[in-house]
Amino acid sequence: MLFSKVFRMVILGAPASGKGTISKRIVDRFGFVHISPGDMLRLHVLHGSDLGKKAKKYMDEGKLVPDEIVMKCVLGRITEVGNKSWMLDGFPRTLVQAERLSASEPLHAVINLDVPHDVIIERVKGRWIHLSSGRVYNVGFNDPKVPGKDDVTGEDLVQRADDKPDVVAERLNVYEKMLRPVLNYYQKQELITNFKGSTTAEIWPQVEKFLLAKRMKAVAESIQG
Ligand code: AMP
Repeated sequence: MLFSKVFRMVILGAPASGKGTISKRIVDRFGFVHISPGDMLRLHVLHGSDLGKKAKKYMDEGKLVPDEIVMKCVLGRITEVGNKSWMLDGFPRTLVQAERLSASEPLHAVINLDVPHDVIIERVKGRWIHLSSGRVYNVGFNDPKVPGKDDVTGEDLVQRADDKPDVVAERLNVYEKMLRPVLNYYQKQELITNFKGSTTAEIWPQVEKFLLAKRMKAVAESIQG
């Protein structure tokens, strides 16, 4: 069910924090439009638009696309979305982006998924994939029938190079460092709510309760006029 008024929200969370799953549940449960600049930029690159041509070289090198380009992309999409509630995922990644967003689209909430780094490293360590199909297995809760082998083809499973514990730890450090000014900015504005937990099963009920309360408040305000 939708919010009665436009609700503007950001979701933040480290790589492999479960942000993708939580975002999908928010969309399914509350009808938010999901805005992911990463997805939008990939589409621009695919279609060879001017914006895509500018963004491609940064993306290929794993660097952040310049703020100007990303802002244009995001604000354009928000205008298209019109009077529907939306949630930004993968944005902002810099303080400049956060400040410019607030200047043109004041936010109602920032959801921050707070999953301990050691939990993320453990989780990713147990992830094995079948390369040609993309099937993913997780040691302990989604095991292959035969250890190390794909259920369908019987072929070997592999670990992605960037799922190795030291690589994941480094990615998490980079994320922390990059996001710190953004987190501080939202903290100062008292916009941020932290959702702590080790699994999606622990975090989702807290997020759902939080958004149900927000929705109730929005309904009460609209009745009062
Ligand atoms: P993602 O799918 O969110 O990891 O984004 C993929 C790539 O798109 C990133 O590696 C960046 O090159 C670019 N990108 C996505 N979001 C942003 C952002 N908010 N600021 C700058 N670059 C971004």
